[in-house]
Amino acid sequence: MADLLKDSYGRAIRDLRISLTDRCNFRCFYCLPHGEPPIAPKAQMLSYEEIEYAAEIFVSLGIEKIRLTGGEPMMRRDIETIIRKLSALKPRLRDLALTTNGYFLPGRAHELKAAGLDRITISIDSLKRETFRRMTGVDVLDRVLEGMEAAKRARLTPLKVNAVIVRGHNEEEVTDFAQFAREHDIRMRFIEFMPLDSGHEWSREMVVPGREILERIGARFPLVSVNARRGAETSSRYRFADGAPGEIGIIAPVTEPFCGACSRIRLTADGQIRTCLFSTVEHSLRDTIRSGASRREIIGYIESVVMKKEPRHYINDPGFMQPARTMSFIGG
Ligand code: SAM
Repeated sequence: MADLLKDSYGRAIRDLRISLTDRCNFRCFYCLPHGEPPIAPKAQMLSYEEIEYAAEIFVSLGIEKIRLTGGEPMMRRDIETIIRKLSALKPRLRDLALTTNGYFLPGRAHELKAAGLDRITISIDSLKRETFRRMTGVDVLDRVLEGMEAAKRARLTPLKVNAVIVRGHNEEEVTDFAQFAREHDIRMRFIEFMPLDSGHEWSREMVVPGREILERIGARFPLVSVNARRGAETSSRYRFADGAPGEIGIIAPVTEPFCGACSRIRLTADGQIRTCLFSTVEHSLRDTIRSGASRREIIGYIESVVMKKEPRHYINDPGFMQPARTMSFIGG
């Protein structure tokens, strides 16, 4: 096909992450520790009609996977409508997923499935009540675990669970998480702490390298790689050698960058395209759409923005500058 999105390094762009809101009901210390940042006024946020229009254009340009994120995407009241609209883009859209803190899932998981959501990823940083509270700022581990069960019952599977592993907080728990993955048949993904926190507390010493996480788990549960040639996937994935259910994924953007195969692009809740998590510039698709541009002009704009996609992130370079917006704005 002629009009598939490619950047100037020849990388095909297939994966779009849409942040539905910059608001969140959690206060994770590695993301948004000091409460609400100034929230963009509602008029600046994309409406569901604008999200639908933009997504339809992106899918016509070869986007195959859309992940809804935030902030906490389930804080957006029209999330079921958005899912229903985006689901109409299948089968060209092959995969519609959601990343959530799980708080609102009890009682609502079935609605998400009925609206057309395929899969869900839930963030759970600790299985211990006190550590969970310390890391997320809220004492709601039981409710999140209930949300996980609701997602399973609604068949929003395969279920993924994300844990950001931070030195001095939860690195001792990685084998407990592996056990949890085996017991609940979960794709457990361990994420290195990235410099995207609004508190600017990130330091290299706090990063637990993916390699260390893998070694700790492998010492207790021998693992077998399932995607040695992982292409554009963010995680290196492993199954348990003894055949137990569940899977382990390691996401190591700090110590083992995987930018060369990046197929991702992001749209913030206020309609800015970000070509990298660590971009220091954004491109206003919202203003382009609202200016009355034709579909052809919007496509031209998206193509020109994608050509500006950075070759790689610069976390490990001496002059690295943390982006002004944090993960809660960008959409993790
Ligand atoms: N609120 C939803 C949630 O909790 O999953 C979706 C948005 S959240 C920003 C998406 C993912 O980004 C979560 O798994 C979160 O743990 C991760 N995240 C946030 N800040 C991070 C950081 N500084 N380093 C690594 N991962 C981070």
